Amino acid sequence: MEEEFGCQDLLAFADLFLVQCPKCKNCARVFTPQNALGVNESIIVPGHETKRVSCNQCGFSKDKHPSKKSNHYEFDFNLFEQNPEADWYFGLPLYLQIPCCGRQLWFLNERHLDYIEAYLKKGVRPSNTYYMSIESRLPKWMKSSKNRVQVLRAIQKLKENI
Ligand SMILES: [Zn+2]
Repeated sequence: MEEEFGCQDLLAFADLFLVQCPKCKNCARVFTPQNALGVNESIIVPGHETKRVSCNQCGFSKDKHPSKKSNHYEFDFNLFEQNPEADWYFGLPLYLQIPCCGRQLWFLNERHLDYIEAYLKKGVRPSNTYYMSIESRLPKWMKSSKNRVQVLRAIQKLKENI
């Protein structure tokens, strides 16, 4: 794949995924619940705590636990490799996605969407080093002046549907 995001680049946004509810197709959330398995272990690997998908519309809820390794808990992030347009734990389609410029534009959550929008609008350079890799690895097709207006328009459309 050419110049796409890697899992690591998105880690700063991966505490919340907005996904399509498997039951009612409305917007559901994938997050770390309070009593997550893995958070009290001696080695906490960020993003590897128990995850919950929960829908406020229809009440659907399901947990997924990481596998126990020798002294910590861990998920295999191979779902991302298979389908980046889905969340990393349940493989549910991301809610914030839209076709744009012959590609599929997708975002994990509103914060991710706002960040990309701000960057495309102003070329904002955040000081947080966590974000630096995302910015430098933002696909060229998104940044090109030819596509930028269309990408921003698509982002606007997504925002209206949240
Ligand atoms: Zn639902």
